Amino acid sequence: MSLSRFNALQNMANRPETFLWEEERDAISIASYFGENVFGDEAMKKHLSEAAYQSVKEANLSGKKLTKSEADIIAVGMKEWAQEKGCTHFAHWFQPLTGKTAEKHDSFFTMTHDGRVIEEFTGSALVQQEPDGSSFPSGGMRSTFEARGYTVWDPTSPAFLMESGDGKTLCIPTTFVTYGGDAQDYKLPLLRSHTLLDKAAVPVCQLFDKDVTKVTATLGWEQEYFLVDEALFNARPDLVMTGRTLLGRSAAKNQQLEDHYFGSIPERVYAYMRDLETECHKLGIPVRTRHNEVAPGQYEVAPIFEEINVAVDHNQLLMDVMERVSRRHHLRVLLHEKPFAGINGSGKHNNWSMSTDTGINLLSPGKDPAKNLRFLTFFVNTIMAVHKYADLLRASIAHAGNDHRLGANEAPPAIISVFIGEALTKLLNQIANGKKTDDAAVKRAIDLIAKLPNLEMDNTDRNRTSPFAFTGNKFEIRAVGSSQNCAGPMTVMNTMMAVQLMDFKGDVDKHIAKGLDQEEAILMVVKNYIRKSKNILFEGNNYSDEWKEEAKERGLNNFTATPEALDVLGSKTAAELFGRAGVMNARELDAFYLVQLHNYVTKMNIEANTLLELIHSFVFPAAVRQQTELAQNVAALKSIGMEDAAEPQRDLLKELTKLMNTIKEGAHKLEKSLEKAHHADSVREEADIFCHKVKQHMETVRTAADALEGIVDDQYWPLVKYRELLRV
Ligand code: ADP
Ligand code: MG
Repeated sequence: MSLSRFNALQNMANRPETFLWEEERDAISIASYFGENVFGDEAMKKHLSEAAYQSVKEANLSGKKLTKSEADIIAVGMKEWAQEKGCTHFAHWFQPLTGKTAEKHDSFFTMTHDGRVIEEFTGSALVQQEPDGSSFPSGGMRSTFEARGYTVWDPTSPAFLMESGDGKTLCIPTTFVTYGGDAQDYKLPLLRSHTLLDKAAVPVCQLFDKDVTKVTATLGWEQEYFLVDEALFNARPDLVMTGRTLLGRSAAKNQQLEDHYFGSIPERVYAYMRDLETECHKLGIPVRTRHNEVAPGQYEVAPIFEEINVAVDHNQLLMDVMERVSRRHHLRVLLHEKPFAGINGSGKHNNWSMSTDTGINLLSPGKDPAKNLRFLTFFVNTIMAVHKYADLLRASIAHAGNDHRLGANEAPPAIISVFIGEALTKLLNQIANGKKTDDAAVKRAIDLIAKLPNLEMDNTDRNRTSPFAFTGNKFEIRAVGSSQNCAGPMTVMNTMMAVQLMDFKGDVDKHIAKGLDQEEAILMVVKNYIRKSKNILFEGNNYSDEWKEEAKERGLNNFTATPEALDVLGSKTAAELFGRAGVMNARELDAFYLVQLHNYVTKMNIEANTLLELIHSFVFPAAVRQQTELAQNVAALKSIGMEDAAEPQRDLLKELTKLMNTIKEGAHKLEKSLEKAHHADSVREEADIFCHKVKQHMETVRTAADALEGIVDDQYWPLVKYRELLRV
């Protein structure tokens, strides 16, 4: 009998009947503790002088640099606040290109030159640190003799207290850069792209409203995840090592009945969610929505949207907190895009929009017909931006985990297209077909926009298959992977939109120079853009084969795998866009590309080696046992003259042996292809071998192993089965 599997199942069966959460916080109002672990407005007012408070605010709003003495004063206030809460350490918290977060803790305590012990936190420690970050991926930007990386405070995202067990650490959100100032992380390009979007969008807003002086991008993510019992998780080396099951026969009942989606939340999961929400609320993460997702064991959490930089930080923080809270409940959270074959994977929808300092959502049609042209402008420019830079958006979500969704038979497809709904499609067509801008039909179409909110609301069966959908007052980017840092795709979104808006302003100005009035000029440009970008619009079923054909005819790319999707980062278009925008210089872009490619190769390598271990040490030995038992049975029956009775066993033995041969042969080929990959001339070539050879052999091996699982005695099977894993 396989001990680890049955011990794990026993452990799970022994879990208590009722599940308690750590704190009964949600019995009191969330408002009473929301943000208590954040050095936000309230804490700053209490612990900073009025002048220091104002300087942080200014740094926050306009990116003004803080002086050394200002930083010193803020550091003292921050330390005072943190220590009052029992905090002993501080850490610069950053987002290296691993996709995870990183932190290096230092104690407040230090020694003076005469040997006294004091507690101190200086402005310079707040503003900049030099963690020995030499092991973070740098894409070759830091040679070993210059391995230092620097973390630099980002005052636009508030510092917070991270609680872990009894320990509390003051975390300061930072960027991570090289000695020369090149970005080594996700945050710095995001911040640059956001500044640029503001700069580009304000002049366009001012065409309609002179009062607008600032535009911010907003992001509301929806995070999908799976939960599995801790004991079962630990009994699956593949989950432990790679975050997904590399083997596993589909359970007879999975999601066919669609009885899990929005179903009642199991008590144990409910306890986890409440605990998670409490922790999030203390950290100022405004999570609000929770529900069961489509697959068994799959759930979702979503917040109220926020300014994009803070929203990205909050999602990174959330993933960390999810993991920690799950352990308290003897659960494990799976953020991988495809933990289980045969059922839905997990994504992270990114709802993106822009809003002004006058309180306007620029992608909201609104009810005032006079504002229709403004909506139309931002709406059409977004479509135009995607039309021009779809491949870059695709590249920003390319990684090994997401390959199981994009391009596999899973939502959404790898072809980037935009869904806007029937009503808007009609209106855009009318506008584009108008002969002149003062056409009655055009005017009528524009007037209708103000009636859209109702129209859109009725249009509730919004196309769920589209990777990029307009959902009433924001665009929803659905192809982002569940484990990913949102900053990647959001940087591309902001950048392409900013550059697009600059082009738009230029085009409008040209028409005005030729004598058109402003409104006519805007309409003329919008009309042109609608005509030019119509190929990116698609309302049909994005999963269908017909769409693949049609997309090809339209010239839309279908990069189904990471290596080819990433190649776009090396293109002239990418260099021009990022260079022109100043979001990533050539060195940074090159390094980013290399790091992503390297991540891909490394992940695939870990998966392949884990699979080989599973085959050699788990699957094959179980098969041998079964084979021996069958062979002994056949021989025994024969020895007493009952050869006929051995017929079914003999057939089974043949089937089993055939599968064993397929597995052995597949494993051998897998080993050979790994060797080939390791000797490749370049990381790009290596990625290709992983993508086209290694993956293929892994699939062959898996198919045979899953078939074996179906015929080997349940008592012998050493790996926790899908039907056991997919329930908590
Ligand atoms: P869905 O039907 O996709 O669940 P919801 O209205 O529940 O749509 O919104 C989903 C997410 O979109 C939430 O995180 C929400 O905060 C976010 N969202 C709503 N408005 C905006 C906006 N203007 N900008 C960015 N995100 C937004
Ligand atoms: Mg959604």
